Amino acid sequence: MEPLTSPQPTGLTGKTILITAAAQGIGRASALACLTAGAEVIATDIQVEGLESLMSEAGPGARLRIARLDVRDTAAVNALAAELPQLHGLFNCAGFVHNGTVLDCDEDAWDFSMDLNVKSMLRMLRAFLPGMLALAEREGSSASVLNMASMASSIKGFPNRFAYCTTKAAVIGLTKSVAADFVKQGLRCNALCPGTVDTPSLRGRIAAAADPVQAEKDFIARQPMGRLATVDDIAPLVVFLLSDVSRFITGQAVSVDGGVTI
Ligand code: NAD
Repeated sequence: MEPLTSPQPTGLTGKTILITAAAQGIGRASALACLTAGAEVIATDIQVEGLESLMSEAGPGARLRIARLDVRDTAAVNALAAELPQLHGLFNCAGFVHNGTVLDCDEDAWDFSMDLNVKSMLRMLRAFLPGMLALAEREGSSASVLNMASMASSIKGFPNRFAYCTTKAAVIGLTKSVAADFVKQGLRCNALCPGTVDTPSLRGRIAAAADPVQAEKDFIARQPMGRLATVDDIAPLVVFLLSDVSRFITGQAVSVDGGVTI
């Protein structure tokens, strides 16, 4: 699938945006799209090699900074926030798909998913939000937080996504709460709900299935448009929601799902 038309070059000009889980998949494509749209991007992940290859792909002169960040590590999150400039935009992208029903989800699996998919956002917001609000007030500008939820299963139920569904629904509640609390201080907060996107972790889930060929067919079959999303179907919406072009949108769970929730 060819990438869609490039985002407007002025979309994020002058903005500093931090993205978690930016070494691969949707986070990586979003980092590249934000750079193209004119932002200064701080790309973070636990996978340093992936960040270095992102740096190479962005090319010399790109306004890209990379930093190893484990979003499950409160001290590391706070240390990075203390070191970085204040942000205009934050994309909390990190997340993990647990496979199974409630009967397959023991307390350790539950705690891991809640920690990576939800509590990471508590850490990031408590560390970065004060600076974002201060910057917006000082500049008379606006700030935007985008949290990664999912169409599956927080919007539409799917089998074997018990922990994933629970955490991604929590992300939507968290998003609405932040949006309501800071709407008068120039901060918008939205959640993104993609359908099934062709990323390295999806390929891993397909490969781990008993019948990988059938598993891929099944993922495609649940998408009415008849194909998986590519990361280039998602990244333009990330740019839009982080930019002032979406300045009247807050507290929303925005679906980009190829028609699953028609
Ligand atoms: P992915 O799962 O392929 O990559 C995830 C990235 O997260 C990796 O680079 C990994 O190193 C990083 N990561 C893992 N643990 C981390 C941690 N503790 N701290 C920081 N980074 C960490 O990427 P993806 O499939 O694009 O998924 C990204 C997000 O999008 C996730 O929140 C996922 O739930 C969500 N999502 C994905 C799909 C899909 O079909 N791929 C659909 C809807 C939502």
